[in-house]
Amino acid sequence: MQIQINKIGVVGGTHGNERTGVEIIRHWTELVKTLPRFTGTTIPLLANPEAVTQNRRYIQKDLNRCFTSELLHNPIPDCLEMTRALEINQILGPKGSSQAADLILDIHNSTANMAVTLIISNPDPFIRAVCAHLSTFDFIRIYIMPDPQSQSPYLPSISKRDICIEAGPQTHGSLKAQLFSQVQHCISEIFQFTEKWNQGYRPEPKELSVYKHFKNLDFPRDSHNDILAMIHPSLEGQDYKPLEPDQPLFMDFKGNAITYSGPQKVWPVFINEQAYYEKGIALSLTVKESVIW
Ligand SMILES: [Zn+2]
Repeated sequence: MQIQINKIGVVGGTHGNERTGVEIIRHWTELVKTLPRFTGTTIPLLANPEAVTQNRRYIQKDLNRCFTSELLHNPIPDCLEMTRALEINQILGPKGSSQAADLILDIHNSTANMAVTLIISNPDPFIRAVCAHLSTFDFIRIYIMPDPQSQSPYLPSISKRDICIEAGPQTHGSLKAQLFSQVQHCISEIFQFTEKWNQGYRPEPKELSVYKHFKNLDFPRDSHNDILAMIHPSLEGQDYKPLEPDQPLFMDFKGNAITYSGPQKVWPVFINEQAYYEKGIALSLTVKESVIW
C-alpha cells in the first residue's frame, strides 16, 4: 500500500527541561509561516506543560516511558505523567489504531555531543527515504534503535511511524541558538520532503551511514549502586567516533583508566548523558553500517 503522510504531530517538551522542542512548540504559530507548504494536518503539542513550567525532565514519572500498550491499558493511578500520556494517546494516537498520526516528530535534547540525531525504530520506505534525504546535511546523524512498537514506552510509538530528533550538546534547562536553528531546518526539510512524497516523488536510493544500537553500558558501580568511575577524558564528547577494544572508557577516582573490553570496534553515542545517570546508562554503543536507502 502506498504510504501517505496526512497527519503529522510535532511534539516538544516530552521532557520539560529539553528546551529546543519547548521553544519550537511555543513559537509554532510564527514558525509554521516559514515552513514549506504542507497540505496535510499538523498538530503541534507541548507534551508535559507542568514539567516545562518547573524546568524539570518530569514530575512523577518519565513521560517518555509511559506509552507501552500495557501501561496505556492498565495505567498507573494518581500519576500526573500517566494521566497526560492517556490524553496524548487520544490526541495523536490511539496507539496501534488507524486514526493514529501518520508521523510524529518528537524533539529532544541531549547533554551529549549528538549533533542532530534522527532516532528511528522501524524504518519503512518513507522513513528510509526521508533519512537518506536528510543525511546530506553534515549536522545530521541516523541512529537505528529497533523497538517493537507495542512494547515501546516512547511517546511517538503511538503514531504509525516516528522520528525522534535528539539535539546536543545542550545543558538541560538551557538553549543553544545554533542547535535550535538546525532542528528548525531539519523540520522544514521533513515537511518539504513529505509534501513532495505525498505527490508521488520517490527519490533514487542512495548510500548513507547509519548507526545501529548495539547495547548500553553503565558506569562501574559498588554494592550501594554508587558509581566507581567517570567517563574517561579522552572519550568525552567523542560521540559517533570509533572506539577500539582496549581504548580508555572510564577513569576511576584515583585517575586509573578502565578500558573497553569488547570484542569489536564500536561507535559510542549518548556519552555521559546527564539524564541517563538515573537510568544506569553511561553511554550507548552502536555499530556503523552503510545502507542503500
Ligand atoms: Zn528527552
